[in-house]
Amino acid sequence: MTTAPPTMRAVRLPGGSRVEHVTVPVPEPGHGQVLLRVEASSICGSDIRAIYREHLGEGPEAYQGVVAGHEPCGQVVAVGPGCLRLAEGDRVVVYHIAGCGMCDECRRGYAVGCHSSFRAAHGWQRDGGHADYLLAEEESCILLPEALTFVDGALVSCGFGTAYEGLLRAEVSGRDRLLVTGLGPVGLATAMLGRAMGATTVIGLDPSVERVRLAEHLGLVDVGVSDPGTLADAVTESTGGLGCEVAVDCSGNASARETALRHTRAWGRCVYVGEGGTVTFAVSDLLIHKQIRLHGSWVTSVLHMEQLLEQLVRWDLHPEVVVTHRYRLDQADEAYRVADAGESGKVCIVWED
Ligand SMILES: [Zn+2]
Ligand SMILES: [Zn+2]
Repeated sequence: MTTAPPTMRAVRLPGGSRVEHVTVPVPEPGHGQVLLRVEASSICGSDIRAIYREHLGEGPEAYQGVVAGHEPCGQVVAVGPGCLRLAEGDRVVVYHIAGCGMCDECRRGYAVGCHSSFRAAHGWQRDGGHADYLLAEEESCILLPEALTFVDGALVSCGFGTAYEGLLRAEVSGRDRLLVTGLGPVGLATAMLGRAMGATTVIGLDPSVERVRLAEHLGLVDVGVSDPGTLADAVTESTGGLGCEVAVDCSGNASARETALRHTRAWGRCVYVGEGGTVTFAVSDLLIHKQIRLHGSWVTSVLHMEQLLEQLVRWDLHPEVVVTHRYRLDQADEAYRVADAGESGKVCIVWED
């Protein structure tokens, strides 16, 4: 039996772009719960948008002063009574929201959409991964395949899972060319997974030259565009003027959303994954007369996350290639500063050397 120490280091986000380092008790697993030693805990765009700068969120995005971090991955060190599957030593990814288990959304595996008062997301309403240990529900945990690293697992627990779900919604296949607007971490994930799912050409748009360079350098996009004014020519050239069969907006930016729809081919599919804000577009011209299917897609299901992990191994893909900055927990201030600047790839807090 591994014994955890009585206290641990943890990080909270009090708002005002500050990071607070605290020492808190190490929790004990209750019925159906496991205690994980955290090995990787990455930073998500929504941590920046709704918590770090200011506590903007409401409902499912209301931050309640807990230990931050909703992309955790670690190793089981203690198992509570009533656990059915996990054992000490298991490496697990945590689907980062625990729901009531009883409502329609939970029954579908999308605890993210649970409306019950029992719903709690790690790093938002229950303690998250920016700590040495994490208490998780066994049913939220998914075994991490041997071939994947803890950092790979952390990235799947929100960002890559979200990207995968958007691509599933669009039914991406080898018949499709893919446009990704916004090349932050979710956009990079969408480009990587979209190609693995068969997209023959991947075009990426982001106003940050650094992000476009990173996507090109990693071979995730065939065509990278940082000047929106040149995108039309790039899409025309790559698709013979037809547009992309699938477009996924990962930016949440109003004009990028319009752009994604504009460059979706007639009868194609467009998915909005990037959160927040609004959009305005010419409904007849861009949607109705082009017979386009427009989807919204929020996070993913536990099952799809499990399937993604299995497929990453078969595809021989490592999400961690999009990580450009790794920090220790005591460097969380710097980690958040870099993530907030919006010019990096993924930023991850790691415990391994
Ligand atoms: Zn997230
Ligand atoms: Zn529920």
